[in-house]
Amino acid sequence: MFTRRRTWGALAAAAGLALLTATAPAHGDPAAPQRGLYEVHGATDAAKRTTVRNSGADVAGTRGDVMTVVATPKQADGLRAGGFALDQVGDFDQLLAQRSNAGGAHEPNDFPPGDEAYHTYAETTDALKKAVADHGDLAQLSSAGKSFEGRELNVLKIASKASEGKPEVLFTCNQHAREHLTTEMCLHIVQRFTDGYASDNAIKDMVDSHQIYVVPNMNPDGSEYDISGGKYQGWRKTRKPVPDSTEIGTDPNRNWGYKWGCCGGSSDDPSAEDYHGPSAFSEPETKAVSDFMAAHRFKAHIDFHTFSELVLWPYGYTKDDTAEGMSAEEAKRFADVGRQMADTNKYTPEQSSDLYVTDGDVNDWAWSKSKTLSYTFEMYPKDGGIDGFYPPASEIPEQTTRNDAAVDILVKQAG
Ligand SMILES: [Zn+2]
Repeated sequence: MFTRRRTWGALAAAAGLALLTATAPAHGDPAAPQRGLYEVHGATDAAKRTTVRNSGADVAGTRGDVMTVVATPKQADGLRAGGFALDQVGDFDQLLAQRSNAGGAHEPNDFPPGDEAYHTYAETTDALKKAVADHGDLAQLSSAGKSFEGRELNVLKIASKASEGKPEVLFTCNQHAREHLTTEMCLHIVQRFTDGYASDNAIKDMVDSHQIYVVPNMNPDGSEYDISGGKYQGWRKTRKPVPDSTEIGTDPNRNWGYKWGCCGGSSDDPSAEDYHGPSAFSEPETKAVSDFMAAHRFKAHIDFHTFSELVLWPYGYTKDDTAEGMSAEEAKRFADVGRQMADTNKYTPEQSSDLYVTDGDVNDWAWSKSKTLSYTFEMYPKDGGIDGFYPPASEIPEQTTRNDAAVDILVKQAG
């Protein structure tokens, strides 16, 4: 079931709210509308795609002028009234249930049967500890802070003795809860740059001339919630209750503090999937990771998402190629490096706002704050329904290795 089960104790404790608000219907409750998975046709340009985004529907992926969205009947009607043609792929709850029931027992603390190769938060932490145990001379584990529910926001630093004082590079994953393939991407980067150091001269050279930081799980509360009960929940946002609302969760990648909520690239409706939060950095996760980033001088950065197979660069908040803090030369460098990376993984490269306008995302903030060459990768698949959210675990090796050359380009761009 696609539910938004409330953690009422946490809600009351955090916000001092009366439990009376618990009577409001939530998605998954009998009174809540069923949500459908739709293909929206006619989203032919960035303005139209931004309109679809602003409907409150949950945009999962975009391929050309077709967008895959999860929408309530009301949102779907609104989109039809706006001139879009909608094909319903299925009932979202049913599709999630089917996807979670490949056969075999559901372990309450693991991915659904068949997808156990994906790393839970505990398994991710263990993998990072193992990297440190195996490569004490290269890997260091620390934390950027704690999530709302108290999970450490793990940071793995990869550096050799020779790396000291060398340019810093950052890889971040799993801002959006259900985008589990991205956590695997970050773990793959960790494994490659640690296990590969002794045997691969190119890896050794990259590590020796950089300090590489990896944050595999920027939204651990959300990703754990998304697999609660051993079943997929279709969850995107954080898990912190919204003050003065019955809703839970903010879109962390609309919560960063540059041009936050400025430009129609996020929602002020707490029920929307791109809700920007009550204020910039209202979420402990974005606050902690941004403080961590501000304390460093990252030259280059990729934030991994799924899905659509895109390489995106700032700005997201404006359709203009250049704007305050972004010269034509800088915009050209973003495009040049973005295209170079996309040549290797065969993703589609474009400025973020060419897809649709987003405000308060990590790339705009990282560039404006520190001139970090900061990209978003939307990983596999190019398009899809429920498998777009949840590709089978058998795809992990190919779809993470696919980005090796792009990651190397990014590292070398750091200097
Ligand atoms: Zn995402």
